[in-house]
Amino acid sequence: MLDATKKPLVSVKDLKMHFPIYAGLLRRRVGEVKAVDGVSFDVFEGETLGLVGESGCGKSTCGRAVLRLYDITSGAISIDGREIGATPQTALREMRPTMQMVFQDPQASLNPRMTVENIIKEPLDEHTKLSDAEKREKVGELMDAVGLNRKFAKRYPHAFSGGQRQRIGIARALALNPKFIVCDEPIAALDVSIQAQVVNLLEDLQEQFGLTYLFISHDLSMVRHIATRVAVMYLGKIVELAPREGLYADPLHPYTKALLSAVPEPDPSLARSTQRIILKGDVPSPSNPPEGCNFCTRCPSVMDICKRVEPEYREVHPGRFTACHLYKDTNDTAGSTAGHEAEEHTQ
Ligand code: SF4
Repeated sequence: MLDATKKPLVSVKDLKMHFPIYAGLLRRRVGEVKAVDGVSFDVFEGETLGLVGESGCGKSTCGRAVLRLYDITSGAISIDGREIGATPQTALREMRPTMQMVFQDPQASLNPRMTVENIIKEPLDEHTKLSDAEKREKVGELMDAVGLNRKFAKRYPHAFSGGQRQRIGIARALALNPKFIVCDEPIAALDVSIQAQVVNLLEDLQEQFGLTYLFISHDLSMVRHIATRVAVMYLGKIVELAPREGLYADPLHPYTKALLSAVPEPDPSLARSTQRIILKGDVPSPSNPPEGCNFCTRCPSVMDICKRVEPEYREVHPGRFTACHLYKDTNDTAGSTAGHEAEEHTQ
């Protein structure tokens, strides 16, 4: 349960990350891919905010944009009290120790020509004035913390399994004592048998070092296990954000309902009572999203208003946010009733 006294460590307001599309002989700009299109959320100190959605919904781009690995199109990002949305890349260097990233593919994110010791030590070389002996000791402590044997410090990444390589990536991310870590699908490239070990390690490290995570994943079962609150993304926007228990027990947005209906239910008695919602059609292109609600082309509850008016993303119950015309205000629990009222007013 989220402690109400905790303050946001990360605050994102109306974040947009649009990528230009160029075409023709003169490479004229002919459009843009709206990978992230007006996303707002807070991440509270010590919590794990899960960010879920289908592949291509913009969740990884969102995570990278929050850490300013891109120059964002617009929006405000505050991390640990500092506004970094418009900070030039050169000036971000001093903020880098506070915010780190664990990447999806440890194979691709580790330099194959560097020893494990040098990989973990690199951020210390860049950002600290520690002596060589102090750095070696720090590397040893980090290897202990992630469950790697110090004896293997001189080995190269290819000598390790996928799970061990991800531990190396995590040790490197921890080297500068960060407060905030974006974990971008950290277990997606790993065998199922070791996914849980890496997730448990992330949980242990969170407790040990007081870390705050943005945990990006398409695996709703794993997010249910690790997240404090969960944000659901569809076509570049957050459509619902809620505490984990509420979201999984009683999803509000039709897209969240469809996503959760596809998650296998381990309890056979409950499995019989849950009905799979099959969405029709494909996800529209982020370069040409539909008018109104961006889910209107596939939503089983679509109304006339949805095709014309974009629903506002707002708090519809305390702590529960969604962007859907079915929910009109914080006192509305009936949902669909309000939706039909909304429909009548538009006819
Ligand atoms: Fe469905 Fe309309 Fe809600 Fe969009 S606004 S999710 S189309 S009911």
